[in-house]
Amino acid sequence: MKTTLHTDWTVGDICKGFVYDQNENKGLFGLNGQLVIQPEYQRNYIYGDGKRDVAVVESLLKGYPLGLIYFVKNEDGKYEVLDGQQRITSFGRFVNNTWRFAVTINEKPYYIDSLNPDQKKRIVDAPLTIYVCEGEPSEIQEWFKTINMQGVPLVDQELRNASYHGTFVTLARAEFSNTGNAKMNRWKTYVSGDPKRQAILERALDWVSDGNIEDYMAAHRNDDKIAELTNHFNTVIDWVGAVFSYVGDELRGVEWGRLYRQYHSKAYSRDEVAKRVDELLDDSQVANKKGVFEYILGGEQDKSLLHVRVFDEKTKRAVYNRQTKEAKEKGASNCPLCAIGHDSNCKKIYQLKEMDADHVTAWSKGGATDASNCQMLCKTHNRAKGNR
Ligand SMILES: [Zn+2]
Repeated sequence: MKTTLHTDWTVGDICKGFVYDQNENKGLFGLNGQLVIQPEYQRNYIYGDGKRDVAVVESLLKGYPLGLIYFVKNEDGKYEVLDGQQRITSFGRFVNNTWRFAVTINEKPYYIDSLNPDQKKRIVDAPLTIYVCEGEPSEIQEWFKTINMQGVPLVDQELRNASYHGTFVTLARAEFSNTGNAKMNRWKTYVSGDPKRQAILERALDWVSDGNIEDYMAAHRNDDKIAELTNHFNTVIDWVGAVFSYVGDELRGVEWGRLYRQYHSKAYSRDEVAKRVDELLDDSQVANKKGVFEYILGGEQDKSLLHVRVFDEKTKRAVYNRQTKEAKEKGASNCPLCAIGHDSNCKKIYQLKEMDADHVTAWSKGGATDASNCQMLCKTHNRAKGNR
């Protein structure tokens, strides 16, 4: 990868032909059409409150440097902003008369055309420090990671969008990263994370590719449609909505793509499912509420999904002490199952660390997780009982 330092471009140069998209609050082009300010892989313009826009212009007025800016030079000789898009959009808007905003000097608002000529010149002629980078997508991705360690770190999907930028990413972002999309609220019921930070797009790609996001993006990089991606995503969401009438927060972030693959050909009674969801979400012993959905889809076999509460150390010790005292009085083992056996263990007194706590009445049959439903068993018997 080649990097070149440019110190000859000024704020005024970058602002030539500046175009701003007011609907999406982002700068689009500059440098006389030679610069793409918001390439498709960039995060959205996030100086939403306007304060940082003003701070950028105030820095220029005071002659402060804006910090390093990074461009990527493409094969066609044009540039894309790799880092610095927000700063460029701020000064571009201020300098351009159409999308300008005011800065406050001595408590009075000033627009670009109400500044005195010296002040205006100070902004427009401010030099910028710009590194231009040329190289393979993987090299640029690696570099992108490094330069972004100083600011808000980029998430994996933002980096992937950078590596595989092209028509497919542009279309996919327009669908899945657009908070104005009418389907967004429904999607956010099932998918966690910020759509602007590519969380919905990442899940859509994850589901359609069965976890092989990068392979999928590489294979489809130059596609001019995203029908497979949108169809698969909507199919999964519709399936979840058809099986589960429940719409609470616990649904969000469940691995629906995997569960769809595993269970979509099984038939479920929506009413029966709804009843079990209510019961299990209500069960104070179920610690992992997000596991309830997979547990039900799998026919209520895999209890480990629920993280059913376990007995605490204090309860185990109290039950152990009571059991051991009674066993010693009777001259029998303190493991009740060993005590009724006929082998050499029938009189064995186990230490606490050699025993495990067991629900006398199983949790699935309504047994509580408290001392009244706890018995200590030797590890062998506990394992045998757990496997039944
Ligand atoms: Zn035993």
